Amino acid sequence: MIGNTCIALIVAGLFCTMAPQSAQAFDTPLHLEITTEALRQAGIDAAAIGIVNQSNELTDTDAELFNTPAAHFDNERFTDGATRLRDKMTEALNALSRCDRQKALEAIGTSLHSVQDFYSHSNAVEIYPDPRVTLDLFSITNPAASVECRRGAFGTRLTSGYWPDLPRVPGKCSHADMAKDGPKRGQWYRIARARAVTASVRYIEALKVRIGSRFGNHQGAFRFLSTGADSSGFCQPAAAEAAVEAADRIGNAVVGAF
Ligand SMILES: [Zn+2]
Repeated sequence: MIGNTCIALIVAGLFCTMAPQSAQAFDTPLHLEITTEALRQAGIDAAAIGIVNQSNELTDTDAELFNTPAAHFDNERFTDGATRLRDKMTEALNALSRCDRQKALEAIGTSLHSVQDFYSHSNAVEIYPDPRVTLDLFSITNPAASVECRRGAFGTRLTSGYWPDLPRVPGKCSHADMAKDGPKRGQWYRIARARAVTASVRYIEALKVRIGSRFGNHQGAFRFLSTGADSSGFCQPAAAEAAVEAADRIGNAVVGAF
């Protein structure tokens, strides 16, 4: 849920016609804009960006995903959101080990949606407006139940808005209170958008590190993922077999910050 307010909301307030049960729904062009900007910086080609963006958008338009707070960092579900990001990273790496580029890019797309939503749906930018401050969304945890939030006075502890907006959750901010969904939010909208781009770039950097630790062949594997080209032989039978063996050895643990 809350997909309707995604970072897409950060955009100029375009209505989202796809999100189920959206009261003040917005469309997803901002998510796609942010993702495209970040992935181009990483050298990912247009076809791959298209797959990533489809998956990003699906996070708001698929009814089940739309109603999964962890996918949008809503309702203070930070721990679940972090778990989901780790699971999706593992899913991407597992798909890459099978040379299933489509599945890997899809896992990355929905992950980027969540990363971007975090900066629109939480008070992170109000608490940490300095872009040099980075947050580890892979290990972030729920705030204490006692953390209170009021519109315009978000406090000093990380929290996120609750969807649906009504009935209000006592002591907590609604999604509408929190979402930095467009220019009407002034500087917070601009900061949230910039932070979403930066966080998306950092997610891709973290992905590269994980590809390196999982497969060793960092450049070849990432080139295959981002362009489909396999000049390094990453997906040749012997290499693929070695990758699977390495994956079995290393396991699926995903740790570290981005
Ligand atoms: Zn969303």
